[in-house]
Amino acid sequence: MTAVPMLEAWDETEGTRRARALFAETFDGAPDGVWSAPGRVNLIGEHTDYNGGLCLPIALEHRTFVALRRRPDDRVHLVSEREGSSWQTALADVAPGAVSGWGAYPAGVAWALDQLGHPTGGFDAAVVSCVPYGAGLSSSAALECAFAMAFTAAPGWAGPDPGTDAGRAALAAACVRAENEIAGANTGGMDQAASLRSRAGRALLLDTRDGHVEHIPFDLTEAGLELLVIDTRAEHALVDGQYAQRRATCEAAAAALEVPTLREITPSGLDAALAQLDGDEPRRRVRHVVTEIARVEQFVDLLRAGRLREVGPLMDASHTSLAGDYEVSAAELDVAVRAARQAGALGARMTGGGFGGSAIALVPAGASPAVAEAVTGAFAAEGFTAPVFLVATAGPPAH
Ligand code: ADP
Ligand code: MG
Repeated sequence: MTAVPMLEAWDETEGTRRARALFAETFDGAPDGVWSAPGRVNLIGEHTDYNGGLCLPIALEHRTFVALRRRPDDRVHLVSEREGSSWQTALADVAPGAVSGWGAYPAGVAWALDQLGHPTGGFDAAVVSCVPYGAGLSSSAALECAFAMAFTAAPGWAGPDPGTDAGRAALAAACVRAENEIAGANTGGMDQAASLRSRAGRALLLDTRDGHVEHIPFDLTEAGLELLVIDTRAEHALVDGQYAQRRATCEAAAAALEVPTLREITPSGLDAALAQLDGDEPRRRVRHVVTEIARVEQFVDLLRAGRLREVGPLMDASHTSLAGDYEVSAAELDVAVRAARQAGALGARMTGGGFGGSAIALVPAGASPAVAEAVTGAFAAEGFTAPVFLVATAGPPAH
């Protein structure tokens, strides 16, 4: 059998070279600089970020690179290797509901920084990326955060200082506003925090109640493990409406329980809280959120104790809860998770918002090719599109 290919990350030199080449080909001359930001994979803590909860992403080595040059006027002209046509606007025309298409993400970040009192001028920019698109690995945050770095570092432009974590937190908040208010995707804050505030070799424990972060050692090599990411290539059918519905259900439950967010419900108070809610569906949604936050805490305790090899059952329980109580899995995700476990994974779960996208499997060092082959075989048997794989390590943040 031929080995299943792994999607390799570009190194800094390769990404920069590609971004500069696309820039020169499109706009002539050289950019003011090249900035980049990573995609992310969440280890555990799914659908908790809009509930004031905890999540635990790592930044991927896979990054989006932006070559940008300031313009003397207020025009924005963007090209991406991934998109067939260029995207143009005047900055003055960027407002909630006024722009659409992929350029809404970068233009939205410029708009959000302007709202903070940090206007940019117009710009030409070329985008290249090795982050899989729409795969639950946050290519959207990688795009926003690479531009956020460019907007604060291009000569003559200023903004929150990316040299400090507080500055990066402010940039992340601006990127969230861009995604929510300009691109129109109602996501929580995990993705942008992961892309801007992570550290290499660490998992990012993000407390979305107060924005506090901690950097938790995450050394797969030392533990004799690998993290295999399985991009199922499954369409995110209905994803926008379903995501918004889950969020609305949680917000309504918090209101019924008279708490600001579901974070205030502790595992010991869960049964009492569930008894106060009407209907099976809200109860199951709340049970997922409360138990998932507890699983993040247990996962972090194991990492801190140097017991990374023991987190598998927490990953499995997270998947069961997301598929059963929260109902955001998909047939492809369930098959990927099951096949990975049968092929020797210590634990596996869907990651990201769900309804397609990616799964992760924690596997013994060197086992990724065999597990990938087993998952590919299981997909073929089901008649699914062949999945794409990458091996993840905790990479550095946007720079
Ligand atoms: P995910 O963030 O999981 O990859 P999303 O649906 O949130 O999926 O974001 C994908 C969208 O982000 C794309 O459809 C496109 O509009 C935009 N995008 C991401 N990366 C790029 C890129 N390199 N070039 C142009 N647009 C991009
Ligand atoms: Mg996204």
